[in-house]
Amino acid sequence: MSLTRRTAAELAESLAAGDTTSVEVTRAHLDRIAEIDGDVHAFLHVDGDGALAAAAAADERRAAGQPASALDGVPIAVKDVMATRGLPTTCGSRILEGWVPPYDATVVARVRAAGLPILGKTNMDEFAMGSSTEHSAYGPTRNPWDLERIPGGSGGGSSAAVAAFEAPIALGTDTGGSIRQPGAVTGTVGMKPTYGGVSRYGLVALANSLDQAGPVTRTVLDAALLHEVVGGHDPLDSTSIDQPLPDLVGAARKGASGDLTGVRIGVVTELGGEGYQHGVLTRFQESVDLMVEAGAEVVEVSCPHFVHALATYYLVLPAEASSNLARFDAMRYGLRVMPEGIEAPSAEEVMRATRDAGFGEEVKRRIILGTYALSSGYYDAYYGQAQKVRTLVSRDFEAAFEHADVLVSPTAPTTAFRLGEKLDDPLAMYLNDLATIPANLSGVPGISVPSGLAEEDDLPTGVQILAPALADDRVYRVGAALEKLWTDRWGGPLLDRNHGLDAVEGRTGATA
Ligand code: GLN
Repeated sequence: MSLTRRTAAELAESLAAGDTTSVEVTRAHLDRIAEIDGDVHAFLHVDGDGALAAAAAADERRAAGQPASALDGVPIAVKDVMATRGLPTTCGSRILEGWVPPYDATVVARVRAAGLPILGKTNMDEFAMGSSTEHSAYGPTRNPWDLERIPGGSGGGSSAAVAAFEAPIALGTDTGGSIRQPGAVTGTVGMKPTYGGVSRYGLVALANSLDQAGPVTRTVLDAALLHEVVGGHDPLDSTSIDQPLPDLVGAARKGASGDLTGVRIGVVTELGGEGYQHGVLTRFQESVDLMVEAGAEVVEVSCPHFVHALATYYLVLPAEASSNLARFDAMRYGLRVMPEGIEAPSAEEVMRATRDAGFGEEVKRRIILGTYALSSGYYDAYYGQAQKVRTLVSRDFEAAFEHADVLVSPTAPTTAFRLGEKLDDPLAMYLNDLATIPANLSGVPGISVPSGLAEEDDLPTGVQILAPALADDRVYRVGAALEKLWTDRWGGPLLDRNHGLDAVEGRTGATA
C-alpha cells in the first residue's frame, strides 16, 4: 500500500520495522499536498523544510533505537488556530496575517516532543466560527468527496487533509462541533475530548469554556494514539484536569473486536427526527441495529433541554468570543491599518480601521451579539439565563448516563452541502451543530465515526458517540467497535469509496 494511504498506526509499525523512513513518509505526503492541494485547499501554509528536518531527526532516533514515542516520525497537520513557533498562525483571519508566534501551543509542543513532523497549518473558518470553512479569509476548503461541496467547519482543512490522504492525522479544535461535524461530512474520525483533558494553552481562544483540542484521523485507533500524545495535565492551562488519562489506546484496541456485549447505548430522542436528512437517519438507525447485533443493549433516553442548546450556545459563545477578540487591537499582533484621510490618527481610530478591515462578517456579527448580551442592562436576561440553561443541559446528561454507558446520535443533520448554499443564512449555518453543541456546553467527550454513505447523494454520514466526562475510553471502545461493524458491512473503509477523489487524482495525475 502506498505510504499516503496508510494509517498512523500502520506507518508507525513500518517505521519501527525499518521498512520505511520518516523522510520517505513525510516526502510522500508533501508531494501529495503539492499535487492536489490546489484543488482541495486544505492548507494555509506548508512547511516542507521544517517537516523534512524533523523527519530526518526522527530517523536518527529510530536508527539509534531511541524513538521519542510510538508515533515518532509520523507526519501531522495542525489547524491554524494553534500557535506554532516560527510558523505563521492566522486563525483563518486577515487580522493575524503575517503573525509568527514566538511560542508553541502545548499540543504543538507535545507533538514535536513526540517526534511528529508538522506538514503545515490547515484552513479553517475565521476564528473557528462556522460549519463550512467558507468563512476563512483565505478562501474555502473543498470536500474531497465533491469539490463543489463544503468539508464542514470550522476545521474543514484538517478533516479534508486527512480525507484526501494529504496527512495521515491532524489536530483540530471543537467549540461547538468543529472536529466532529467535519469528520462526519468527510467520512473521517473526529474526537472532542473531555473539557480540560487536552491543554488549551496556545490555542487562539474562541470561547474558553467550550473550546477543546482533539484528534482528526481516518481511524479510531489513530485518534486514541494521537490523543495520548497531546492529552493530559498541563500546568499552563488553569482548566486542565490534573489526573492521568484513561487507557485510550487499550480501549480502542478492545473495541476493534466489534463486540459490544453488555454495553448500554442510549439513543437521544431530541437528537434526530425533524431537520435531519432522511439518508442520515437511515444510516444512524442501521448503526444502532449493528450495535444491537454486536451485543449492545439499546435504551431510548430523553434530554429535554437539548432543544435549547443551540440558542444557549449562541449567547455563551459570542459573549466569550467578543471579549477574547478585544485583544486584536492593531497594537499587539498582525495587521495594522491606518485610517484614510486622518493625518495623525489616534490609537482608537487605528484600532477601528484595523478591526473593520481585519475581521470578516461572521466575526463582526458575533462581536456585536456578544457585547450586546454582556451589556449591563441585558446581562441577566441573556448571559445569566444562558448559563442556567447550560446547567440544565448538564443535568440532562447526568440523568441520561444513569441509564446508558454512552449516548448516540447522528453527528450532523445533513451530508455535505454545496459551497455557498448556506453562506447568506447564518441560522441555517448554525443548525449544522444541533447535535454536537450539547457536549461542549457540558464538557463531555464525543467522537464522530463514519456510518456509510447516504442513499440519496452518496455522501458520508457520521454517528456521534458521547460518554460522561473523563470516560473518553468508553468513547474509543464503542467508536472502534462501530467502525469495525461498518467496515465489515461495507467490505472496507468508507474512504475507499471516494470517487470524487479519483476524479481529482485523474485530473492532477496524482496517485495515493
Ligand atoms: N460551528 C460552530 C460555530 O460556528 C462551532 C465552531 C467550533 O466548534 N469552533 O460556532
